[in-house]
Amino acid sequence: MKEPRSPKTPKKQKAAKSEIKYERAPELDPFIDKVRTKYLQHFTPEQHGSIEKAKFVGIFRFPEKSRGGKTVFGSARKVSDKERIFVDADFIIEVWKDFWTNGSTTPEEKEKEALIFHELKHCVYKEKVDKKTGNITYMPKLVPHDFEGFIKEYELFGDWTGDLPEAFSK
Ligand SMILES: [Zn+2]
Repeated sequence: MKEPRSPKTPKKQKAAKSEIKYERAPELDPFIDKVRTKYLQHFTPEQHGSIEKAKFVGIFRFPEKSRGGKTVFGSARKVSDKERIFVDADFIIEVWKDFWTNGSTTPEEKEKEALIFHELKHCVYKEKVDKKTGNITYMPKLVPHDFEGFIKEYELFGDWTGDLPEAFSK
């Protein structure tokens, strides 16, 4: 419960500034491209547009961070029009550096692929044709997960939203 605070009470000192840091990770770029090519059949034009034409760059983030008590292994974001002045890319894939590089926590190649595949599934690169000029541009966009929920919810109520494919909902 929060204590009511009189206007004279000094504010509590703010928590130490976030320790989260980022660095460019050029070694991720070819890996992202490799995963995209390997699994391209799972990035259909209906869902992902011309994803094969999008440019991805990788960055590392450290240290570990969590959201809702879960470790965040990576994330995807689109490069905005303004940022594009400085960044030659459509999407930025962020990866937790320790997951990628550090000794005993180094995941198997398959897990690295899974992470990159997951982040790529968030990315859509659809064609946009200018009706006047006929010029084609591509719009980077992010999409949420196919399904979200709680295990207990699923156990008790099944796939009541109809989000899960049949194979999972039996
Ligand atoms: Zn995700």
